[in-house]
Amino acid sequence: LVDETNQANKAKSEFLANMSHEIRTPMNGVMGMLELLSDSDLSEANKEKVDIALNSSKSLLAVINEILDFSKIEAGKLKLDHIEFNVKDLFNEIYCVMRNLAETKGLELKIDTSGITHPIIKSDPLRLKQILLNLIGNAIKFTPDGKVSIKVHQTNNEEGFFLVCAIKDTGVGIKENKLNKVFDSFQQADNSTTRNFGGTGLGLSISKRLSILLKGSITVESEDKKGSIFTITVPIECIDINDEHLPQKINESPIPLWHNNVKILLVEDNRINQVVAIQALKNINLTCETTENGANALAKLKVSNKVGVPFTLILMDCQMPILDGYETTKRIRLGECGDNYKEIPIIAMTANAMKGDKEKCLSIGMDDYISKPVDKQAMLDVLKSWIPKQ
Ligand code: ADP
Repeated sequence: LVDETNQANKAKSEFLANMSHEIRTPMNGVMGMLELLSDSDLSEANKEKVDIALNSSKSLLAVINEILDFSKIEAGKLKLDHIEFNVKDLFNEIYCVMRNLAETKGLELKIDTSGITHPIIKSDPLRLKQILLNLIGNAIKFTPDGKVSIKVHQTNNEEGFFLVCAIKDTGVGIKENKLNKVFDSFQQADNSTTRNFGGTGLGLSISKRLSILLKGSITVESEDKKGSIFTITVPIECIDINDEHLPQKINESPIPLWHNNVKILLVEDNRINQVVAIQALKNINLTCETTENGANALAKLKVSNKVGVPFTLILMDCQMPILDGYETTKRIRLGECGDNYKEIPIIAMTANAMKGDKEKCLSIGMDDYISKPVDKQAMLDVLKSWIPKQ
């Protein structure tokens, strides 16, 4: 009987996995068409309607993806990777993705990775990221005010190395009698949750199952109305850094041989985004000078007219204190830094990957854009087309 029940459950999960997969294909068609429509010439009122439809389809796709993951795990069909990657880079990426979400709620988001002693590790980066995004997403979702702080460290014992990440929030907390239920499928600690916060009640159950597949665990401590701490622990393989061990991606376009005088100015206020951009440049054999706002960038360009080699290209963040990227670009185009910089390639780096933002950057006088978190390939593709060969 147990066998028959298991068989039936497995069949049901397989059916769900197949169905979610089938639903995703037409959903992509719907979303693609809505995006095209949203970019076309529309009246304000119609644009608003299209954007609402687009946002709703994104939410629907997120739910479908959760069901797909959940049923794949249930059906035993989820295959894990075990590959080398830089875990500090992973947290930088996560920070870039989550920063906006926290900022729009007025929350402080901190990620402390100083406890990472071996940045290059082996595990499944995609699944680890999925768990972390879900836990941090929940922390932000269930915190009306205050902060979300994340602390990562590595430990080892006789069984090997472990990555430990604690996500602490100052949010609504979870009542003690609900605490052991939050990891169950379709469970929400409070029935008003869906009304107040949305969600399927699948996120934590998927995260828990994924952590078990990774041979790790997730635990929770919480105090009602005070906040929660979710801690994930996964075993990892640590790799000592030397060149032959650095992860290499295949099938990427080759890095061109840049000429000697390429000089890039990075204008970016956020330290972590700076580090990510510098690393992406380093990966394609380029370096840059960094400055943290538009006013300083204008000053640097002016000075470079008098001494040293002129800049070849500018990577420009859009939102910055003192002088933002849009205003800075306008001033450069008007010749404030000299005629020779009036046409310098300016590439926007924007966290808002919506189509409208690209148009805004271009209409203001920027030449191209890269969406954040910046990755090596996107950086390479854009820079190859804007850095002159000679
Ligand atoms: P969802 O967020 O889609 O409802 P989850 O499985 O991610 O589903 O979470 C299940 C429930 O656990 C949530 O509905 C919420 O009640 C509770 N929960 C999860 N994370 C937190 C948190 N950081 N603070 C308070 N409650 C939380």
